[in-house]
Amino acid sequence: MEDGFRMILEGMGEDPNREGLIDTPKRVAKMYAELMTSLSGETRAEDILKTRFHEKYDEMIIVPDIQFASMCEHHFLPFTGKAHVAYIPGDCVVGLSKIPRVVEYYARLPQIQERMTRQIAELIQKVLQPKGVAVVLEASHMCMTMRGVKKPGAMMVTTQLLGRFKTDEKTRAEFMSRIYAPR
Ligand SMILES: [Zn+2]
Repeated sequence: MEDGFRMILEGMGEDPNREGLIDTPKRVAKMYAELMTSLSGETRAEDILKTRFHEKYDEMIIVPDIQFASMCEHHFLPFTGKAHVAYIPGDCVVGLSKIPRVVEYYARLPQIQERMTRQIAELIQKVLQPKGVAVVLEASHMCMTMRGVKKPGAMMVTTQLLGRFKTDEKTRAEFMSRIYAPR
């Protein structure tokens, strides 16, 4: 990565040996290792949800406003925003901190927002086997705000609904009204 970034600097017309840039390739390599931890394979996504509690609770559980930062794989610029996740338990629930960890896991990969939305929903569906899962991601993409159409603050909203959230309009409406309600 260090050699690669030095070449990128040269390609830009920069001098990678000038004082301010001399250690930049090393810093950038270290930073990408941190930002892309899920590529290392050290954690399996399934393992994040392995501690489950058997509970009779059949109403919607909503974890709103999970802040995340990920990297657009098309331009390698960040996209940042909030995830809202809900599920209706089957026979088990997970601790509150686990859902943000799932979001974080999928953020730490070269990503596109649509795929990240789907991956979060599919993992929860696969591991917890709930009656339904809903995931909404709202994010601002640096590749839109810094270049191209240059619309600062432009948001993209993506949604993945599974199970009851997909088939039952009332469930879906309850979820949407609660994530967008003033809190
Ligand atoms: Zn992009």
